[in-house]
Amino acid sequence: MNSQNDLSQLTRRQFVHAAGAGAAAFMLSGAASAPTEPDRHFEHGNPLKEFSYGDVVFQPGLHQSQLEQTHAILMGLDEDSLLRPFRLAAGRPAPGWDLGGWYSATPTLVKTGPSGPETFGQWISALSRYYAATGDEATRLKVERLVNEYAKTIEPSGKVFQFSKGPTYFYDKLTCGLVDAYEFVGLKSALGMLTSTTDAALSHLAGRAIDQLGPEGAKSSESYTVPENQFIAWQRGGNGRHLAMAKQYLADDFYFDPLARGKNVLPGRHAYSHMNALSSAAKAYLVLGDERYLKAAVNGLVFAEQQSWATGAWGFGESFVPASLDAEDRKFLGINLTSIDTLGEALKYFKWHFETPCGAYAHFKLMRYLLRITKDPHYGDSMERVMYNTVLGALPLNQFGKAFYQSNYHAHGHKEYFDGYGHSMPDEWPCCSGTLPQIAADYRISSYFNDVDGVYINLYIPSTVNWRQGGVDISLTQSGPYPLADTVVIETKASQPITFAVRLRIPAWSTSPSLHLNGRPYDKPVQPGTFATVWREWRAGDRIELRLPRQLELKPVDAAYPNMAALVSGPLVLFAVSDDSPKVTRDQLLAAKQEAPASREWLAESSNGPVRLLPWFGIKDETYFTYLSV
Ligand SMILES: [Zn+2]
Repeated sequence: MNSQNDLSQLTRRQFVHAAGAGAAAFMLSGAASAPTEPDRHFEHGNPLKEFSYGDVVFQPGLHQSQLEQTHAILMGLDEDSLLRPFRLAAGRPAPGWDLGGWYSATPTLVKTGPSGPETFGQWISALSRYYAATGDEATRLKVERLVNEYAKTIEPSGKVFQFSKGPTYFYDKLTCGLVDAYEFVGLKSALGMLTSTTDAALSHLAGRAIDQLGPEGAKSSESYTVPENQFIAWQRGGNGRHLAMAKQYLADDFYFDPLARGKNVLPGRHAYSHMNALSSAAKAYLVLGDERYLKAAVNGLVFAEQQSWATGAWGFGESFVPASLDAEDRKFLGINLTSIDTLGEALKYFKWHFETPCGAYAHFKLMRYLLRITKDPHYGDSMERVMYNTVLGALPLNQFGKAFYQSNYHAHGHKEYFDGYGHSMPDEWPCCSGTLPQIAADYRISSYFNDVDGVYINLYIPSTVNWRQGGVDISLTQSGPYPLADTVVIETKASQPITFAVRLRIPAWSTSPSLHLNGRPYDKPVQPGTFATVWREWRAGDRIELRLPRQLELKPVDAAYPNMAALVSGPLVLFAVSDDSPKVTRDQLLAAKQEAPASREWLAESSNGPVRLLPWFGIKDETYFTYLSV
């Protein structure tokens, strides 16, 4: 890790040098929008539209529980404590106590690890999205109080950004929070606060040029994640400067250009932030229409998928493979390798295999963009796999800041709260405590999409979506125990008969999917890896029954380790729960049986008795094995 002082100096120097007089003057002046500015609401590529958070209602279940649980934790956070680092930096009275961990306001802690109130913006964002989803007045008031108090701490020199190990990252999260408070809570003053926040932050931000330092420099600055929220800030009515900043931070030469040309530049790079940066590329395509960015996002995902776990997750120890290990890494890990070249090696030598809430949050955002743009259900399949096998089974965030961070796919795994990488850094309130509340809200806007013809059902989660089309109020409700069983039931209601399309994602893994309409087999093709379309005049009580027969499959960790495999049922990885390595054969695993219809538990025979297998969300404190030797 670079030392903060060196990096800051380098960053600022290079920034001024690289930005050039014209660009620097433009950015620093906070100039108003140029008259030729493009239409803020236009999106290139005729993408699908997202529903609003409030259009989708979840029935009780894992998704709703995660939202309620994270919501309750954020609502319970002491506001003076949340504001304390901002108030201290601004030299104002700062009652309350230090939240600690990564959210520390204590300068001594800042030197030892990532610190600063970086999750503040993410929590404002999550609370704003919760408000949009639930209309809860207490949530709205909390956002309003926090943001108004935050505004009082903004001072021109931006001292609070010095608290942060990653001022660019911190600024990006603040941007997200403020534009969400503006958009979802209707806090009109938030855009003005964004302007003064940006003025204060500018001299602390990493310049575009930091990216030219290559993976090491880029690892620390995370500046290429900036454009996405800058585009959003501009689209929602922010100062025209945000569009300029979005363009300026697009990491063309070192990242997006080579990706667009099909060159894999992922190896060794920080996994979460580079996946997150692909959302900047997808957003750049939507706003600017330059296909290079779309290609970069699509290809970047392809390269990540080439090194994905059976769970759909990617990265190990926060890196893409192959990744070199320096002397410090080797000492820290107690291994004598100069690089980790394959997932199999990462499995063998590590226990940190996916930065779960942050990684899943980035994955969801990118899948939404790519699904909306390409209408390719592959991105829905990918999102579903990551959801069930990673973030939906994360340990709950607690009131003391203990958070789930890394999924462990090593033998004898346990779900554990983040320990600061063996206490080498603070552990409470890490980055992942910022993204878990955000993704818990975002399951809603990821489940359904729409276009002029009707609705796309992307995730099969018991829920209702409501919308208005051609002057008619329509609601569509899905139910059923999928993915613990094969069937999803979908019922529509409309205030009067109306013709529209219902498109259903048919996962590529399904071998003989079928669809019944009002009890009769549907007469149009239902092909895996497509959206099946039912386009008709819908009447009250019409009912679709979708069957997606699941099959058991074994997925080797990689080509170098064909005998280390995970058992998969449809979108679910089944984790063997056992205190000792199960002695189980390939055939025994493939003959595993669900303990009862729609049960969370599967059983496989083995030479030392039956082996229990559970999906990720079914595991509590048991010892589990993700990959088995078969
Ligand atoms: Zn994280």
